[in-house]
Amino acid sequence: MRHQEARLRQIDSTALWHPFTQMACYADEAPPPPVIVRAEGNWLVDAAGKRYLDANAGYWCLALGCRPRAVERAVQAQLKKFSHSTLLGLSHLPAIKLAERLTALAGPPLDHVFFADSGSEAVEVALKMAYQFHVHSGHPERSEFLALGEAYHGDTLGAVAVGGIELFHATFRPLLFPVRRVPPPHCYRCPWKEKGDIHVFASPWGAVFFRDSKPAPYSHHCHPAKNMNVPCLCARALEREIARHHATLAALVIEPFVLGPGGIIPQPEGYLERVVDAARKHGVLVIFDEVAVGMGRLGTVFAFEQLQSRDSQSRDRKGADRLLTRAARKQHAAREQKLKPDLVCLAKGLTAGLLPLSAVLASDQIYRAFLGTYAQQRTFFHGHTFTGSALGCAAALAALDRIAAPAFLGKLREKTIPAFWRALAPLSGHPHIGDLRGRGLMAGVELIKDKARGLDYPWAERYGHRVVLAARKRGVNTRAIGNIVLAVPPLTIKPAEIELLGRALYESVEEATR
Ligand code: PMP
Repeated sequence: MRHQEARLRQIDSTALWHPFTQMACYADEAPPPPVIVRAEGNWLVDAAGKRYLDANAGYWCLALGCRPRAVERAVQAQLKKFSHSTLLGLSHLPAIKLAERLTALAGPPLDHVFFADSGSEAVEVALKMAYQFHVHSGHPERSEFLALGEAYHGDTLGAVAVGGIELFHATFRPLLFPVRRVPPPHCYRCPWKEKGDIHVFASPWGAVFFRDSKPAPYSHHCHPAKNMNVPCLCARALEREIARHHATLAALVIEPFVLGPGGIIPQPEGYLERVVDAARKHGVLVIFDEVAVGMGRLGTVFAFEQLQSRDSQSRDRKGADRLLTRAARKQHAAREQKLKPDLVCLAKGLTAGLLPLSAVLASDQIYRAFLGTYAQQRTFFHGHTFTGSALGCAAALAALDRIAAPAFLGKLREKTIPAFWRALAPLSGHPHIGDLRGRGLMAGVELIKDKARGLDYPWAERYGHRVVLAARKRGVNTRAIGNIVLAVPPLTIKPAEIELLGRALYESVEEATR
């Protein structure tokens, strides 16, 4: 048995090349990383029989836990019919039904859906669609994209081009198309200092290093911005970039509400509405990368549902919604529709994490620009072998039955998410935690060496990973990005599991920073 274990460990750290992993360190990790052999509920079980609450949700995709029975049954049922047939020239029922379901949930103008296999590929589809839309509209010069520093949109080259995490992306710059970049609204590492000067370190590629900026916990006057009238300097920078360069801009690409892999960076209230507004005004398309934040992660099926028009923001504050006349309500609905993105990328939780499937929702305006005669060649020449996989679509339909159910979303918003933040709250008082941030069921806990002096732990000392190892001992699986420990559990996490997560993280930070 011992011999067999050693052999597996040897293969795991040599033949198997793990993603985002320094294999030389992985091979020496002690205790060795768990080898998962089965799962139950929200728990993973390793070869030694040890159980771990999966607070990383299989990298943020196991929306309904590790064993969602209804989704498993749907996949099994589809397997008995057929598992794969192409959408190139043919069609099949699961894809048709899923297209109907997604467009009904998204509502106009997002009336069309294009399938791919992963989040990265969904982003590629959206980028190409956006550019080709402008070509068909007679504006081939609109070929640039605008994205945020610390953005992450996937690992294929188009997605890497719009990504803004220097550590991951800088190496590949010579292979990439240039992208206009503005600072992300990272309030903990505010890029603007007292007098409103830009305090960024521009790289040779026009990107921005934020890792070097000193933490200044929410010191700037524009945070916390309670509404979009507050002078959020990051929003203003983005608006200015759009106003200056709109003639050559194809689209703004953004992770709405929270930049995920960049370090769980939530956007101040009103930020997103302002930048969507600015893009709209100048004919710049808006691509929402909802790969991480969609499918219930923030408490709604789509993150864009949480966008609020100016009037609804002020109405919310006054609580006067019920006083609206029917005509005013209609006008308001039209305005909300205008606020929606033109393209939305979905993946991860779309199948509740059972199978790889992604989708791009496209507005009717975009779709129509691709219509024409065969000879006009306005076709979207793009499609993967497994585009709209029948098994994936069947899984997604079953996942949506649960995720989009009002009772499920209601419980998520009213019970699970508030309990999650209550359980994590004590962390913010810890002397070695500089920031606790996030939204919905997505939290980042940023470690700090010296709070008073704003000194970070050296990145190479892997304090985040030390917390991860300590949490593992306590039966919690999570992940860290540098000094930021993440908590992104399944949406089905139970009250006792939330308690365990909060307690285990606190104790693990305590152990790792002692
Ligand atoms: N966009 C965002 C915001 C993501 O978080 C990810 C994955 N973490 C992706 C895109 C890429 O998705 P995938 O890994 O499925 O290619």
